Order: sequence, then structure tokens, then C-alpha cells
Amino acid sequence: MARRIAIAGASMGGLRAAEQLRSAGWEEEILVIGGEIHPPYNRPPLSKELLKSPGSIQEALATVTLRQRRTATDIDWKLGAPVIGADLTGRRLTLATGEELGYDGLVVATGLRPARVRVPGPLHGRHVIRTLEDALGLHRDLRPDARIVVIGAGFIGCEIAATATLLGCRVTLIEGSSGPMQRTLGRELSAGMRNFLAERGVECLSGERVAAFTWQDDGTDGPQRCTGVRLTGGSEVPADAVMEAVGSQPNVEWLAGNGLDLTDGVLCDGHLRVLGTEHVVAVGDVARYPDRRAGTGPRRVEHWANPTDTAKIAAPALVAGLNCSPTPEPAAPLPSFWTDIFGIRVQGVGSPAVADRIEVLEGDPLRPADGAALAYYRGDRLIAAVTSALPADRQLHYRKLVTDAGLPAGSQLAAV
Ligand SMILES: Cc1cc2nc3c(=O)[nH]c(=O)nc-3n(C[C@H](O)[C@H](O)[C@H](O)COP(=O)(O)OP(=O)(O)OC[C@H]3O[C@@H](n4cnc5c(N)ncnc54)[C@H](O)[C@@H]3O)c2cc1C
Repeated sequence: MARRIAIAGASMGGLRAAEQLRSAGWEEEILVIGGEIHPPYNRPPLSKELLKSPGSIQEALATVTLRQRRTATDIDWKLGAPVIGADLTGRRLTLATGEELGYDGLVVATGLRPARVRVPGPLHGRHVIRTLEDALGLHRDLRPDARIVVIGAGFIGCEIAATATLLGCRVTLIEGSSGPMQRTLGRELSAGMRNFLAERGVECLSGERVAAFTWQDDGTDGPQRCTGVRLTGGSEVPADAVMEAVGSQPNVEWLAGNGLDLTDGVLCDGHLRVLGTEHVVAVGDVARYPDRRAGTGPRRVEHWANPTDTAKIAAPALVAGLNCSPTPEPAAPLPSFWTDIFGIRVQGVGSPAVADRIEVLEGDPLRPADGAALAYYRGDRLIAAVTSALPADRQLHYRKLVTDAGLPAGSQLAAV
């Protein structure tokens, strides 16, 4: 009887894992089980171009559905059927449909869901964004002149603030304790991005947090609608809709009870094998694995390139384990990311968030729209570079600098 590799999660990570399993020579069954009803789709447009004009759900889906590579042959899909439990010893999964499925190898690709602001208040009129339905729901509230409060100034919060402003909304961005995208970009470029957002009409409130939501009691039995936020400083910001962009939470609850370390994702080794298991790997946003290039301990990477990078390591390791053959030496992928805000692209390679020193290489980070580049160091080693509004050849130049900086001394892993 054919053996089965089950993949839990049918988004980019699930799709890339299926493709890489075939590339790694797995000719037996592959079953991808997805919580969403849609085939795998691309999420970055959900806060950018698609959010401006999504059209119907069918039209939106047509623009974001991921094309499957030719290697992805003979894959079985079970969509709209979340996995709700796993017995990793008995190698069985339980689906929300009540179905039980056995497997020989398992890929964890269940990604993230948005975190919520933890203060009480009605949910009506409050948005998060992760799915196509989320984007369509938010778009309906982004009417010209609508007052939109965006809570959280990470990448997604800043992108939504920009998109909503371009649609004619009046946007207030509540930054919280640090500036726009500061955790990743560092203080100076973050300050430049705040200037840039403010010049284009986004009201940025720094150093303030949400203390409470406000809402309207219209005396009916219908859902009460959120009407804004009260800030820790005491002021109130009225809103026709609120967008919560305060981070995300890994989808790992279905793995509970198996003795795994599920603190902030699924803990893996450098081959993306889930620690404490046999024949289980993780890919994409949910995987927490050693960042060998930056020289840090295990951490998650939430960028678009990561599902592909991790699937290329995890799939051959899983196939090797199942076939009792030697596990190939894993690569040490160079993380990369980008964001598009008011027409400028901020792009990075490496792990700037774990740097301890930043140097300006080109331009003025306080004027990101005019072109800038920054280098990020950990100790003496260059571990990342970020460019803003620079042409492709300059980005490639800085990418090469980071690639050439290599791995920390003593690292056993092959670079790519
Ligand atoms: C709005 C938005 C904009 C972004 N923009 C950028 C960008 O500009 N640049 C960039 O580098 N990155 C960006 N990203 C990040 C990038 O899209 C992610 O890194 C990527 O989607 C991760 O893919 P994944 O498959 O690991 O996880 P996900 O995309 O989260 O997919 C996980 C899938 O698993 C499913 N699932 C969850 N639980 C279960 C379960 N129990 N059983 C079965 N299925 C389950 C989910 O429904 C989902 O379909 C953006 C993300 C978002 C949300």
C-alpha cells in the first residue's frame, strides 16, 4: 500500500512543501488538508493592491491564486476541513469534519492568525487581515472620508494605513510603544517612515496604546458597533472602522497533547524536523528554527520567501527519514522581505531585527522616499541590509554584501 505524507495547511507553505516533496523524489501519496475553502493564494496583495479594488471574491481569488509548479503532480487536496487534533505517536489526524486520517509523514504548515487587541469591546466594526474574506470585509469599510483607526504600526498596519489613505479615508495610526516598523528597520529608518506617512496624510500617534474600545448602544438586539478607541493618555479617537494590526499567533493548538514545544510556533532543528517527533517537519510562518545566518537561537520568520526556503530544507529531510536514507546537509537561507507603502518599496535581506548596530550606507533614512540603504550588524558581522526606494541594481549590490558576509564562524551549515 502506498505510504502517505499529510500536509496540514493549504496555503503557500503547504503548496511549496508538496512541490518540494515531489522534487525530493517522493512518489507516493501527498494529501494537503486546508482549513480555508480556497486553493493556496498569495497574501501580500491583501493589504496593498487587492485591498484597493478587490472586486467579487471570485475576481479577487483569480488575481491571487498561486500557480502550482509543474513538479506539483498528483497531489490530493482536502479543503475547508481544519485539522483539530493530532496523535503523533499513532500517526493519526482528526479533522473538524469528524474524519480520522492516518499518515506516515507529516508537514506542519498551518501558519498564523492575527492577534487581537486585548481590551473588551464589540467586534463589529473591528477588522484584522489574514484571509481573502478579511480583505473584502475591510475594503467595504474603506469608503472615501471614512475615519479609520489602525492599531499597530508594523508592516501590515503601515500598508493598510497607506492603502486606506489612497482610497480617500482619514487615517489615524496608533503606533504603540515603538515607531512604524521599528522592530525590523531600526529607529532612524522608522522615524523616516513616520515622516513619510505623515507627509501623505496619515496621522501618526506615537507612544500611545489602546486602553478601551468605544461603542454605540443603539438599543436594538443587533450587534453593537465599535465607534473608536480610548487611548492610555485619556484621549478618544472616533472611527467608522478600526483595523487591528498587532501581530499574529501561530496555529498550533491542534498539535497539543504530544509533548512538543509549542511556545511561539513549532520548535524545529536546522532540518526543520519538529523536535521530539519522528517523521514530522514544519514549514513557513509556523516553524521556529535556528537562524544560523544571524547566529541566533530558534525564531520564526514571517516573510513571503520563508515558506519556499523552509520547504526546500524540510521536504528532503522528511523523505530521507521515511526512506531511511542520509539526510542532506541543509542550506542556511538568507531571509528576505519587502513592503510597498505609498508607491515606495522598502526591501530587506537578512535578519535586521536581531542586529545590535546599524550604519547608513547610502542616502538619508529620514527621507526614505529619496533612496536610502542601511547595514545591520551583529557584533562585527553584517547580518542584514535594508534599502528604501532604490533601483534593483542597488538592492542586488547590498544583497551580495550580506551574502558574502556568510555564516558565523563555526557554523556547520551550507549557505545558498
Ligand atoms: C496581509 C498580509 C500581507 C503580507 N505582505 C507581505 C509582504 O509584503 N512581504 C512579505 O515578505 N511577506 C508578506 N506577508 C507574509 C506572507 O504572506 C506569509 O509569510 C506567508 O503567507 C506564510 O505562508 P504560510 O503558508 O506559512 O502560512 P499562512 O499563509 O498563514 O497559511 C496557513 C494556512 O493553514 C491553514 N490552517 C490553519 N490552521 C489549520 C488547521 N488546524 N488545519 C488545516 N489548515 C489550517 C490556514 O487557514 C492557512 O490557509 C503578508 C501577510 C499578510 C497576511
